[in-house]
Amino acid sequence: MPQSDLVLLVLDDGPELQLLLRALSAVGYQTAVVHEQSGLERILQESSPAIVVMGETLKGVDGLRLGAELRERFPTLPIVLFAGHESATLLRECLRLGFSDCLCPPLRPDDLVRAIERNLKRALSMGDWIRREVKRTTASLERRVDELQTLVNLGRGITGSLELDHILTNVVTAAVDLTGAEEGSLLLLDDDGENLYMRAAHNIKDGFARTFRVRVTDSLAGEVIRTGEPLLLGGEDPHKIKTAYLVHALVYVPLRMKDKVVGVLGVDNRQERRFFSERHVLLLSVLADYAAIAMSNAFLYQASETERTKFQATFNNIANGVIILDENDCVLLVNPAARLAFGLPAQGGIGQPVVDFIQHPDLRTLLNRANQASLKHHEINFDDGRVFNAQYTSIPGVGAAITLQDITYLKELDRLKNDFVHTVSHDLRSPLTAVLGYTELLGRVGTLTDQQREFVQRIQASVQNITTLVNDLLDLGRIEAGFDTRKEDVQLDSILRYTLDTFSPTIAEKHLNLGMDIEANLPLIRGNPIRLRQMFENLIGNAVKYTPEHGDVRIVLRAEDSQVIVQVADTGPGIPPAEQPHIFDKFFRGSNVPAGVSGSGLGLAIVKSIVDNHQGRIWVESSDKGSTFVVVLPASRPS
Ligand code: ADP
Repeated sequence: MPQSDLVLLVLDDGPELQLLLRALSAVGYQTAVVHEQSGLERILQESSPAIVVMGETLKGVDGLRLGAELRERFPTLPIVLFAGHESATLLRECLRLGFSDCLCPPLRPDDLVRAIERNLKRALSMGDWIRREVKRTTASLERRVDELQTLVNLGRGITGSLELDHILTNVVTAAVDLTGAEEGSLLLLDDDGENLYMRAAHNIKDGFARTFRVRVTDSLAGEVIRTGEPLLLGGEDPHKIKTAYLVHALVYVPLRMKDKVVGVLGVDNRQERRFFSERHVLLLSVLADYAAIAMSNAFLYQASETERTKFQATFNNIANGVIILDENDCVLLVNPAARLAFGLPAQGGIGQPVVDFIQHPDLRTLLNRANQASLKHHEINFDDGRVFNAQYTSIPGVGAAITLQDITYLKELDRLKNDFVHTVSHDLRSPLTAVLGYTELLGRVGTLTDQQREFVQRIQASVQNITTLVNDLLDLGRIEAGFDTRKEDVQLDSILRYTLDTFSPTIAEKHLNLGMDIEANLPLIRGNPIRLRQMFENLIGNAVKYTPEHGDVRIVLRAEDSQVIVQVADTGPGIPPAEQPHIFDKFFRGSNVPAGVSGSGLGLAIVKSIVDNHQGRIWVESSDKGSTFVVVLPASRPS
């Protein structure tokens, strides 16, 4: 704030200065004198003069230039030039540079004082005007900040809440507050698009709001729907919103969703003749956008809720058990069938690692296998005899799904079938031995013709085939029943070599190239040597049987992570992908089997049972270039 009575005299010393000092102090003004530019800077920092009287020159420096610089820096500070003599050019220059006044000799003390007073008064009223203007602008700015704050708060409410009624009422209340209106409403088109009803209101009676309805074709609100343009009405005559509902002023703005006008946001004054402006139209348009966003959010939420409920109902009613896991194998969802299967509580478990929530060894095995990317299904056995087939399926972006199918009845059927086959096979063996024995005796009791001898040989070959089949079936029955409990530490490579001897003649006859890759010092296997030999016989037998002449058969034995891995690869016809899941089933013979290649379809079923019995795993990798059977057996651990 300038000191109201400090007059700064920027003048060279001389009689004029003395005259000024005397005249000003005589009427009570405070004065300060500066003779050079540096002094001027200092005094401007230390005090705030109310007026400056500037000499034409100051120690040879141009006073006009100094004054002009001061004006640039302090535009409201009055600067009066104290000139040595009067000239039209000087006066023009003074005006151009924005000096407030120019004093020229001859000067009397009264003239001087009056000039200072006049200029001070003008500066004062200028100061008052500026202060008023600043206040006015600040008030309008404050109002705008308030408006913005209201809009921001409303926006926050919209993103944070899905309660449509609450948001729409807030929008209408904000519209009334920001425009200073008496009342406000939000009208929406009904389903057939012919009428508008009141969806939210402020300062309008409840009963009236609930029954409010106007036709789109003959109402002011309808006009906004039809044109898509805002409506701003005021003037002398009242405006009819509907019968017996007149207002002095109103603003209606369209409410758009997906480029379609679906409603109208409006405010009006019924009592006072107070009008609205374009600015209010703008504010209401922003609020209408908020309302539209809130409505689309609510619709989207409703749609997703409906979908979620549908999904939930389906998921809960699936007869098979389903467990959905995230990418870390933690439970996302479990349906009631899965909870029932594992005897889990009806609630809870969500977010827990599945192996903690469901502590079942077979489930753990399934997960381990699935993570090793080999087998994706496994049987889950319960103590009460129930058996489930569990399938693990990866779901990109989610994690995985485990589906459980109750196969207890299939297992029971399988058991009954096995019992039946076992009994029949057993009962067939004695008569077959008798048939074979008697055919051998035939030649000893009399001479046979060549034809009779040929027939006898055919009978013997056929009986031999049936006996092999029966033996296979009995073997399978025994292995599956778990009778093979006798196990010892065996060297797989020695068993392999014995087995290969059996096939040497056929390999030579078919000119097959046999490749062997047997790692030295393989760990021992805890197993049944007879069964393991049977396993090799079947795998190598198939490779030799199915590979055409001059093909390759390659056998690998190696150790990895306390396991022994057996690979039997060939360049045979390969197994069609669709048939690969079935090749370990009993009596399954593939469509790839060349004509004339005999077999019972039991070999791989026996191999699978032997491998299972040794806690191992077996699978096939096959293409039309050949097949590779892989067996993984756990190494024997020193007891
Ligand atoms: P089979 O007596 O028919 O050989 P297996 O149980 O040993 O019965 O094999 C089942 C089926 O698997 C075979 O019929 C054949 O389709 C397929 N298979 C097994 N091994 C091979 C192989 N090395 N190459 C091609 N197909 C094979």
